[in-house]
Amino acid sequence: MSLHVRTLVNDTIVNVAQLLKETVGSTRIVEAHLDQMPLDETLRAEDLEATIRLTRVEAGILAEGRLTAGVQLECVRCLEFFRTTIAGDFEADFRPSVDVRTGIPLHVPEHQDLFVIDNNHELNLDELFRQVAIVSLPMQPICRDDCPGIEQVDDDETGGADERLAVLHELLEHEP
Ligand SMILES: [Zn+2]
Repeated sequence: MSLHVRTLVNDTIVNVAQLLKETVGSTRIVEAHLDQMPLDETLRAEDLEATIRLTRVEAGILAEGRLTAGVQLECVRCLEFFRTTIAGDFEADFRPSVDVRTGIPLHVPEHQDLFVIDNNHELNLDELFRQVAIVSLPMQPICRDDCPGIEQVDDDETGGADERLAVLHELLEHEP
């Protein structure tokens, strides 16, 4: 049996009509590459690579895999932007919204962890990729372990102290 791998380039949609007609346990392998994908208003993933195994399960399709992507993040110490690579594993349930054989609409329970396969039997990996990339972001991004932070921090503090001293001097001068 040859392993059929489907490749998606700058696309996240897989038609799973055939897979939905197959028996439980049937699989497809999908490899996806996206030049870029927005994660929120300011952040985007670049060169996203993902390998996904789609398995026909009783309730629909199980998508399991791993993605890696480059992101530009702001270092919490020095506030400079730097590029880093994120990686995340995922396992997600996709449920069909219509019966693939009869076309009869199916009830998909509302649950944040459930993804819906649309009326055309198209499974969109976009939202899954976005969610996995976002949870894979470092909480405290640091450009390098020994990042010294902002050099001017000390100067600012000194400046602040000088200012306070100046105010104090002024008050003392006006002392009767
Ligand atoms: Zn830094």
